[in-house]
Amino acid sequence: MPATRQDRDRPEWRDWAWQMRHRVRSAEALARFVTPCEDEVLAIPALADRFRFVITPYYAALMDPDDPECPIRRQVVPRGAELDDPAGLADPLDEVAHSPVKNVIRVYPDRIAFCVNNECALYCRFCLRKRMVGDEDWTMKKRELETALDWIRATPEIRDVLLTGGDPLVFSDDRLDWLLGELRAIPHVEIIRLGTRLPVTLPFRVTDTLCAVLERHHPVWLNTHFNHPKELTPEAAEACYKLLRAGVPVGNQTVLLAGINDDVATMKALCEGLVRMRVRPYYCYQAQLLEGTAHFRVPVEDGVEIFKALRGRTSGYAIPLYVLDTPDGKVPLTHPYLRGREGDDVVVESFEGKLWREPNPRNPDAR
Ligand code: SF4
Repeated sequence: MPATRQDRDRPEWRDWAWQMRHRVRSAEALARFVTPCEDEVLAIPALADRFRFVITPYYAALMDPDDPECPIRRQVVPRGAELDDPAGLADPLDEVAHSPVKNVIRVYPDRIAFCVNNECALYCRFCLRKRMVGDEDWTMKKRELETALDWIRATPEIRDVLLTGGDPLVFSDDRLDWLLGELRAIPHVEIIRLGTRLPVTLPFRVTDTLCAVLERHHPVWLNTHFNHPKELTPEAAEACYKLLRAGVPVGNQTVLLAGINDDVATMKALCEGLVRMRVRPYYCYQAQLLEGTAHFRVPVEDGVEIFKALRGRTSGYAIPLYVLDTPDGKVPLTHPYLRGREGDDVVVESFEGKLWREPNPRNPDAR
């Protein structure tokens, strides 16, 4: 029986396995949560062979039933605009070329992204790894995970491993425990990080048992992916709190998305709400030149202005670093507060636009 909004009152609602079994996968199932608009109804079958359409009942219940522009709905429900993006690329970060073994991406000398799982609880229409998530060809078999682990064992420069995907928390507790244990047994792996959207899209996955697994393999860090204040629900806050109690620092990586969070008030509410939940806003990514996502892209200059408007007007903790990811690594996108040198002074700009000259002799002994 497909899920409905009314299921929120059932005890099974908080069971993550029940949520996974009852995910929305069709326009008919979506109609149990919202009134789909014509564009959505046409786009769901039209895009079916390009990128999976799947939503957890929990996340579907956050949607505005009457507004197709709802920021939750736009993140996960296909729209016709996805068919119209001639500039979009399948792999804008050239990740395939940066893979020494299947699903390991190495851009920096000392760390890797290890795409351990091709599955997610739901599929975001702007996903950077559209080319592989939800696609059976990218499933990591145990033998392939072993091959990747062998590569990490044989590469002593790797001190930081990000488990990502897809979503590593879609794994069972046992599989995750095994994988974390294998990594933790590698002497040069200092930090294990998890990149997961489940605290946002399926917070009931963060069970006491999962937290006990993570606690066994510290230091484990976690970055999640909230994009809009509507996602900051009591259930999501509880999931983050459980992780924090298990000693897992929780950060957030947002994507700047047109019509979803590309205005100062929304970004401020999101970042301040995260800090209230003790989740550190870490990065805000410029959306990539990715196929089917032209309608989500925001000009870089507009993004810089959003974060300039936050500077000095909220806690520094609530201001993530706005970055552009490139095949050569992340590049910070910031307003140029450092205006340059004038004689023995350096000139900087305050958040209100005032200039300040700070004595800064090249050779302090010559003062
Ligand atoms: S949860 Fe992350 S990996 Fe999965 S579809 Fe969304 S953005 Fe992509």
